[in-house]
Amino acid sequence: MSLVSPAELARSSSGGALRLFSEPGALRHLGRLVDELAPSGEVAIVGDGAQKVVDDGDLDAVVEAAVSGARTPRHVRVPVGAHGVTLDERTVEAVAAGAAGAAIIVTVGSGTVSDLGKVVAADLGVPLISVQTAASVNGYADPLSVVVRNGAKRTVPSRWPDALVIDHDVVARAPLALTRAGVGDAVAIWSAPADWYLACALGMDSSLYDGRFVDPVRDLAPALADAGRDDADRLGVLVDTLTVGGLVIGDAGTTAPLSGVEHLMSHVLDMSALAEGVAHDLHGAQVGVASVLAASLWDIALEEGGLFALEPADLVVPTDVEKRVRQVWHPVDPSGVLGKECWRAVQAKMRRWVSATSQIVSFFSHRRRHVETLRALAGDPAVPLAALRAWNAPTTFAELTPPVSPDRARWALGALPFMRDRLSIADLFVLAGRWDDELFDRVFARAAAVGGGFGI
Ligand SMILES: [Zn+2]
Repeated sequence: MSLVSPAELARSSSGGALRLFSEPGALRHLGRLVDELAPSGEVAIVGDGAQKVVDDGDLDAVVEAAVSGARTPRHVRVPVGAHGVTLDERTVEAVAAGAAGAAIIVTVGSGTVSDLGKVVAADLGVPLISVQTAASVNGYADPLSVVVRNGAKRTVPSRWPDALVIDHDVVARAPLALTRAGVGDAVAIWSAPADWYLACALGMDSSLYDGRFVDPVRDLAPALADAGRDDADRLGVLVDTLTVGGLVIGDAGTTAPLSGVEHLMSHVLDMSALAEGVAHDLHGAQVGVASVLAASLWDIALEEGGLFALEPADLVVPTDVEKRVRQVWHPVDPSGVLGKECWRAVQAKMRRWVSATSQIVSFFSHRRRHVETLRALAGDPAVPLAALRAWNAPTTFAELTPPVSPDRARWALGALPFMRDRLSIADLFVLAGRWDDELFDRVFARAAAVGGGFGI
């Protein structure tokens, strides 16, 4: 069991760049932090304008009172589209223009606003304080941002906030859907590390697998399924699990330890909804449902006589892979721009596979040891499901808001290996010539057996 506190981990993971204030009443530190980081000059408060309440009234008013002192802060409103805040080039430019000239940026909001603040503060070269208003994703406590480029979601380096303020009293008042989405993001711990381990062991990831970036989250996450705690305790467990998740990702310099098949599935659902101009559910809500599916996929991959009984010569780049990539994205973007962007990434992955032969051969000659490790990291869909259920979070695609139809869910599963250059277990099925409807049927059936899957 990890005995390092999140605040200590924040210091070590960020090399001292990030100070973490995570506790009930943490907002009381805000005024002092602003004065320390920017003793003079204007304070830009960046938010999406959605009203957030705290015991003393409106959160924006509380934040303004905390930071003002003798200074009148400048409010910068993030442009909100029909489907919320989209972190694309236009949004970044608008907020950077709004905050230009300020001595410090204080963001008040959930995941997208926090990610936006990191990008803008990096662009403008000013200090940043992030006030986290919901336990909805793990991305607050890392130096990365998820942005939209050419219609595709990409994770890019941005910067650590100088201070992350997580007032548990504020987070407790967030809409329930956000908190449940946070549980969904957290349960990726029971599938994503296996994808990362696999990529590293096969020589398909430039980093080396290191339990330091996985174990602190694995130690905390089981308590998410523990219903025998009071609400404040439960929320504390969720906040810590997510914060520690962000910190290990930040330390690793890549989201890979906590982002595998389940995240790809959520990104694919976002991209298709964005392209069609329709709404999609929160990142974490989708990740949670997809985590049950990802664990089911791993369960099938790891079964006796399954994928890992094959030989390296059985895993070859399909001759029609470019056609499949372009075809899968065609309904989302008939112009072909997205298909081209994704093909570039997939082509890099396939080229790497061809050049990694010696490590692939070595992996299969030590397969027994690798399979044992992978079984410890993933493969039981009942585990993420139990945690989701303990919080009444969605477990099926039908329970998402809006519901995802079986057709769309099946398409998204089929599309996910054809999106980016990072290898996951799905790619091994592609290389084995087994990424097909027969497999998808089995994956959805396995998820449905524990209470996940389509849900109809
Ligand atoms: Zn996530």
